[in-house]
Amino acid sequence: MIPYGRQNISEQDIEAVVAVLRSDFITQGPAIERFERRVAEYCDVSYAVAINSATAALHIAYLALGFSPGDIGWTSPNTFVASANAFLYCGGKVDFVDIDPNTWNLDVRKLKDKLRQADRDGARPRIVTPVHFGGLPCDLEEIAELSRQFGYAVVEDASHAIGAQYQDYRIGSCRHSDVTVFSFHPVKIITTGEGGMLLTRRRDVYERAVRLRSHGITRNAEILTGPPDGPWYYEQLELGFNYRMTDIQAALGASQIERLESFIARRRELVRRYDQLLADLPVRRQARPEDRRSAHHLYPVRIAGDEMRRGRIFAALDAEGIKVNVHYIPVYRQPYYRQLGFAAGLCPEAEAYYRQAISLPLYYDLSDAQQDFVIDCLRRALA
Ligand SMILES: *Cc1c(COP(=O)(O)O)cnc(C)c1O
Repeated sequence: MIPYGRQNISEQDIEAVVAVLRSDFITQGPAIERFERRVAEYCDVSYAVAINSATAALHIAYLALGFSPGDIGWTSPNTFVASANAFLYCGGKVDFVDIDPNTWNLDVRKLKDKLRQADRDGARPRIVTPVHFGGLPCDLEEIAELSRQFGYAVVEDASHAIGAQYQDYRIGSCRHSDVTVFSFHPVKIITTGEGGMLLTRRRDVYERAVRLRSHGITRNAEILTGPPDGPWYYEQLELGFNYRMTDIQAALGASQIERLESFIARRRELVRRYDQLLADLPVRRQARPEDRRSAHHLYPVRIAGDEMRRGRIFAALDAEGIKVNVHYIPVYRQPYYRQLGFAAGLCPEAEAYYRQAISLPLYYDLSDAQQDFVIDCLRRALA
């Protein structure tokens, strides 16, 4: 069986986890801070907060940015439901900006048009969440430029994109955003089992996120409402959550990030082979602008033809044990979102893309021979 993605766990990863299991702290210990520091250094960003999932990280990122009931958040329809759901957790509303026909990322021209319209309607978004689809960074400079004009905060959903680069910066640097969020689910670039991280340059957002991660509780004397009753004292200042990562997970993450560059190098090699070996087939790949480097989380292609044809190709690959996947069903086409009032036709590009999309297997341990087999099967299925 060839999955579309999977983790790579080394002996060193296992030893790092076992060392935590033998230590005094398996959660809220030193491994968390080590992992946070390591990721912050890698991304050249001031603050990093380890969280138990990217979904939870998005939730507290939105809250820490002041997103409140009634506020409006925008994101791409071509994403996992979590990017949008987190707005709803906060009691807010969500809307979607259609994708670019070539990069399959949120389309900046459509963002601009929609902002102008929202401005006329008095319904500006409070937060815009671009998603670096498949690991390919969005047009961050333009999105940041528009944020200054229209007054929204930018949260990068970089669940696919640790190790990606935009111009001279690594994704996670937050040079063009308020917050960046990573996911460490096993299909992503590096893993902690379940896990995520929130990165920011803003001290206020960092402090609020740390508090929200742990029940809204603080021991920081500077922000206590009065003098402490004693050394045990803490205060709950707002309604937070238990969104903490364990030290077991953090140790795995810190060990994994040491191999991040080699993970991406192998993914890039596999992408180069797909590009070459699929060149004569009726499939389209994601455009990759030259001023950015994808982390290559996915290798999505568009199969020429209709939805039926995509279905046949999917079934043919599946029958050969190649467990391809489709990223993504436009979020607002989910029954839950339909029931909120979203109708077909809202984002025509995302819908057209979805009808043709298949993500081919791409992961560190995929061998050249396995990849050749995938390509042979795809070639036969397309014939
Ligand atoms: C995986 C993913 C998430 C959610 O990540 P978890 O760590 O599983 O919560 C959010 N957004 C995107 C784009 C993802 O791919």
